[in-house]
Amino acid sequence: MLVYIDGKFFPENEAKVSIFDHGFLYGDGVFEGIRAYDGRVFRLAEHVDRLFDSAKAIDLVPPVTKEEMAEIIKETLRKNNLKNAYIRPIISRGVGSMGLDPHRCPKPTVVCAASEWGAMYGDLYETGLTGVTVCVRRNTPDSLPPNIKSLNYLNNILGKIEANYKGGDEAIFLDRTGKLAEGSGDNIYLVKNGKLYTPPTINNLKGITRQVLLELLDKIGVPYEVCELGLFDLYTADEVMVTGTAAEICAITKIDGRIVGDGKPGSVYRKLLPVFQEVTRTEGDA
Ligand code: PLP
Repeated sequence: MLVYIDGKFFPENEAKVSIFDHGFLYGDGVFEGIRAYDGRVFRLAEHVDRLFDSAKAIDLVPPVTKEEMAEIIKETLRKNNLKNAYIRPIISRGVGSMGLDPHRCPKPTVVCAASEWGAMYGDLYETGLTGVTVCVRRNTPDSLPPNIKSLNYLNNILGKIEANYKGGDEAIFLDRTGKLAEGSGDNIYLVKNGKLYTPPTINNLKGITRQVLLELLDKIGVPYEVCELGLFDLYTADEVMVTGTAAEICAITKIDGRIVGDGKPGSVYRKLLPVFQEVTRTEGDA
């Protein structure tokens, strides 16, 4: 696999970034996760915009333009002859002496790697995931704003570890006041009496797949509302599902040991899945 680093492509075993890069020393940097389907990059402009917003939020000026970043992403795909792939652009603070001050780093590092990618959850798209609400909270006063996709994903990882220990496939995060937030790498939705509900993006990442799903709801004629939700709503929902670039769209059929609906992916999910697959596999930048 060839990896882009600061203007050049390197074979992956020669693709090296200094251990003095503040991305490695402190998690000081931002990233994106992007999918390509059949050689086309899905919602590329949106991902590049979000990458640059994340950078702006941590006061990091990318050393490339948005247009150049988009080209780097497409070139990474092409150079590796990848059709169905997951692409990971990263902009870190760059190499500098030890010490937190970003002024120590004169030049940000730009990396882009990709790998072959299929259906992340395999058979679980048919049967549904097991979700676990976890102790780690999203959007606490001392945590990073959830809309920065930073190189510091430890809270999400802690949630995933807890969910794994409790036999779950995915962690479900509440925020500091107990409101429903999101999964460790995806946004969350529930369906009650034929209407879909999802939390506002104040306590979760503004997912690009979330935007796709909201557009598709209009297409299939399912009403939706963006509103604050709690555990009660989650436990009494007819359907629960998550969306993310890596996970795509997947139902959750068990939460904290409780069966969701009748324990099978519900009718709104089953309507959404084929239209989601159609849109992801027909649009995109080559
Ligand atoms: N929430 C978190 C914490 C994520 O890491 C992701 C993945 O990027 C998402 C939600 C879903 O966002 P998207 O659909 O843009 O991949």
